[in-house]
Amino acid sequence: MTRIDVLLARGTTTSFEFFPPKTDEGEAHLRRTLKELEPLRPSFASVTYGAGGSTRERTHQLVIDMLRHTSLVPMAHLTTVSHHRHELASLLARYRAEGVQNILALRGDPPRGSPAPFYDLAHAIDLVELAREVGGEGFAIGVAAHPEGHPQATSIAEDRRHLATKLAAADFGVTQFFFRAEDYLAMVEDLSTLGCDTPVIPGVMPVTDVRQIERFAQLSGAAVPVALADRLHAVRDRPEQVRRIGVEVATELCRALLDAGAPGLHFYTLNRSTATREIHANLELTAEDPSTPAGTQHEA
Ligand SMILES: Cc1cc2nc3c(=O)[nH]c(=O)nc-3n(C[C@H](O)[C@H](O)[C@H](O)COP(=O)(O)OP(=O)(O)OC[C@H]3O[C@@H](n4cnc5c(N)ncnc54)[C@H](O)[C@@H]3O)c2cc1C
Repeated sequence: MTRIDVLLARGTTTSFEFFPPKTDEGEAHLRRTLKELEPLRPSFASVTYGAGGSTRERTHQLVIDMLRHTSLVPMAHLTTVSHHRHELASLLARYRAEGVQNILALRGDPPRGSPAPFYDLAHAIDLVELAREVGGEGFAIGVAAHPEGHPQATSIAEDRRHLATKLAAADFGVTQFFFRAEDYLAMVEDLSTLGCDTPVIPGVMPVTDVRQIERFAQLSGAAVPVALADRLHAVRDRPEQVRRIGVEVATELCRALLDAGAPGLHFYTLNRSTATREIHANLELTAEDPSTPAGTQHEA
C-alpha cells in the first residue's frame, strides 16, 4: 500500500518534488537527479502540473515512468485552471487505471500571458470532490496550504477557513515554502482551533539562487526574512556560498519543524539533488530500509 495518508499514519515522511523538463537536456539532468536521490528512499516523490499543454502531458509521462521504472512512489499534481470538468475526470480515471494512488488537487494559476483562463471547477476543493468521485478509495488526495496565507485571499482568517474545509475533504496537505517555523506552527494552531487535524506536511525550499528565490517568494506570498535576505545579498554572485547558506538555513528550519512534531518534510528540489542530499545528511535522516514499510523511521 503506497497511499500517502497510510505512510503518514505510520511515521514521519520525507518527499521530493520535481517538475517535468521541457527539453532533452533537462530530461537528462532530471534522470541524473532521480538516480542520485532515489537511494535516499523518500516516502514519495511529487511531479508538478504546468500551465501549458505539452508540459501537462509530460507530468503524466514522468509520473508513469516513476511508477514503472523506479522505486519511487509518485504523487501527481493536477490543477483545475483552463480544464473542463470532463477532461479532469478523464485524467483522473487514467491515473486510477494505471495504478497511481496519490493526487495533489490544486486550483493552479492562469498561465502567464493567457488571455482567457477559465475555471470549470472554481476551487481546489471541487477537484478533491471530483477525484473522490472518480477514484473512490483508490486515491489518497492532498491539497496545498499557504502558511502565510494565499496571496489572493482577502484575509488570513478567511483563507484559514477555506483551508480547513478543504483539508477536511482531503487526506493530507502540503505547504508552500516558507522560512520561519512560526508561520507553519501558527497555521497548524489556527487549523486546530477550527477543528481540523488533517496532517499538513511543511514544504522546504533550499535557496540555491538569490534572484530565483526572490521571484518565487513574490509569486507565492512567502516572505524572505530580512536577516536572511541580507546574508544572501552579501554573497549573491558566489553560487557556492549561496548554496551553503541555503542548506544551513533549510537544515535549521527542518530541525525546528521536526522538533515541533511536523508529520514530514517535503523538499522542493527544483530538479537538483545536491542541496537536498546535504540537508538529508545534516538531519541524519535514515534512508528507508527496504525490509520495513515506508514512512516509519526518520530520525530527527
Ligand atoms: C505544495 C504545492 C504544490 C503546488 N503545485 C502546483 C502545480 O503543480 N501546478 C500549479 O500550477 N500550481 C501549483 N501550486 C500553486 C497553486 O496552484 C497556487 O498557489 C494557486 O494560486 C492556489 O491553489 P490552491 O490549490 O491553494 O487553490 P484554492 O484552494 O482553490 O484557493 C485559492 C484561493 O481561493 C480561496 N478560496 C478557497 N476556497 C474558496 C471558496 N469556497 N470560496 C471563496 N474563496 C475560496 C483561497 O482562500 C485562496 O485565496 C502549488 C502550491 C503548493 C503549496
